[in-house]
Amino acid sequence: MGWMTERGDHAGWAAAVTPDGRGSVGSTQGHMLLPDGEQIADNLVVGWRAQCECGWVGPLWTRATDSRATDVREHQVFDTEGGDPTVEVEDLIHAEWKVHVAPLESLSAVATAAADARQSRSRLDGVVAEARALGASWADIGRAAGISRQSAHERWG
Ligand SMILES: [Zn+2]
Repeated sequence: MGWMTERGDHAGWAAAVTPDGRGSVGSTQGHMLLPDGEQIADNLVVGWRAQCECGWVGPLWTRATDSRATDVREHQVFDTEGGDPTVEVEDLIHAEWKVHVAPLESLSAVATAAADARQSRSRLDGVVAEARALGASWADIGRAAGISRQSAHERWG
């Protein structure tokens, strides 16, 4: 396996791709293995692409047979390492996978902040109830919470 998000909910790798469009199940162990267990011969690899366990698949980097055919913008690269992509190509593929997970990672930050906010609200409710039980007025509680007496009463009364 290649790369993992911080929360471990997405795992990606640079897959070797066959002429019929199937991708290998990993980039290190299983780098030349198809999901059904079939082994891909080095010379049958037509290119590489990012794949993610969630099912997402990146664009194909076509394997060129001639170094003069390399054109990174066209996703075409010459490769001299048999069935494995070069380190440079793997980095480019990794970058595409990072673009795939970036919005998902930002959503996990939203989820964490929302959980924190829920916890803070619940703690506030608790300490207000405690203050009331000890005899604090709605005006006192409102002042302490930075809202009006009436808002305090409406919210916790
Ligand atoms: Zn994914």
